[in-house]
Amino acid sequence: MAISATLAMAAKARELKEEGKDIIGLSLGEPDFTIPEFVKEAGVQAINDDYHSYTPVDGYGALKQAIITKFKRDNSLTYAPSQIVVSTGAKQSLANLAMVLLNEGDEVLLPAPYWVSYSDISKLAGGVPIEIKTSIEHDFKVTAQELEAAITPKTKMIIYSSPCNPSGSVYSKQELRALADVLVKHPNIIVISDEIYEHINFVGKHASIAEFEDMYDQTVVVNGVSKAYSMTGWRIGYIGAPEWIARACNKMQGQITSGANCIAQRATITALENPPSKIQFMVDAFKERRTLILNLLGDIPGIKTNKPEGAFYVFPDISYYFGKTLKGNTIKSASDFSLFLLEEAGVATVTGEAFGDPNCIRISYAASEDTIKEAMKRIKKVLSN
Ligand code: PMP
Ligand code: GLU
Repeated sequence: MAISATLAMAAKARELKEEGKDIIGLSLGEPDFTIPEFVKEAGVQAINDDYHSYTPVDGYGALKQAIITKFKRDNSLTYAPSQIVVSTGAKQSLANLAMVLLNEGDEVLLPAPYWVSYSDISKLAGGVPIEIKTSIEHDFKVTAQELEAAITPKTKMIIYSSPCNPSGSVYSKQELRALADVLVKHPNIIVISDEIYEHINFVGKHASIAEFEDMYDQTVVVNGVSKAYSMTGWRIGYIGAPEWIARACNKMQGQITSGANCIAQRATITALENPPSKIQFMVDAFKERRTLILNLLGDIPGIKTNKPEGAFYVFPDISYYFGKTLKGNTIKSASDFSLFLLEEAGVATVTGEAFGDPNCIRISYAASEDTIKEAMKRIKKVLSN
């Protein structure tokens, strides 16, 4: 199994900073805001109310109820408590799903670019990741024809995120319907719809493939509070799933980690019970930063971008620089390019290779406007050499 490239780059940037180097970290996908006050207060309240014991493996009943209400309110999805499992981050939700659903040799379709951990989590569970290439010209989205062509008798699962990490692409309801038309013909394929960036959407209403009645029994929705509520370190993720899958995840989790942290679960109830309008200020800030970073990147020769419609990443194609020699080093790959930016510009990004696209790098713009400006200035300067 490979080391998580996002976490590895973040660790490297942290190390260099500790050595006193002036590093701008744009590698980790983590909001730079603090947790909203009302959520923090709920965490403090939970400590003062003496929450301390082991929690039910699949989550507190009150949290499951808040998740059910959230699914209804935001996604028009109806779930029973037996269909919800709370985990230690959406990452654990994904790992549970891979472990309970995949047998040795089962194929997992990953429209590329995909979030880095889908591939290694699938492999760990015995699955075989099958990349479906997309292109920047088509906004890094997979089409129904491309999906259909990738399906074999061994296909067990497809995993994608919308809004997408790393491309920022958002699938519209019509685009999802086209994919659903293919998938309903293969009822044994389970769709893992990772909607953790649901609220960080600049183009309108979020759509979930699970909303289509004919897809509901075939789809698991993965979500969490890391991104929308800036609660990355609190580690709460959850799924809404067909009951047989939820039951299996519950069993798996019960043998591995038990229920998620009690204080974080209590705070999550408050986060989810409040309307998403409470966090709109963060979304507005991300949208402004997207415009800023696209404009600044547009000023650098040879860098091609799509227009991200959600999340907080840009995924520029930097292949123009392959074969060019900068400071005596020839750039042969996106990894070389990303390393060059770290060493010469002091800017940490992540190579696109980790996301299944070797022509790109990922830049997180979950940083202040001044930080983004300084980072782009440095990148422009070193590349002009
Ligand atoms: N899915 C995607 C697409 C992500 O970017 C992340 C970020 N870590 C996760 C899942 C996992 O989130 P967490 O474990 O923090 O809930
Ligand atoms: N999801 C974030 C990212 O892609 C956090 C890092 C991780 O969990 O891998 O950068």
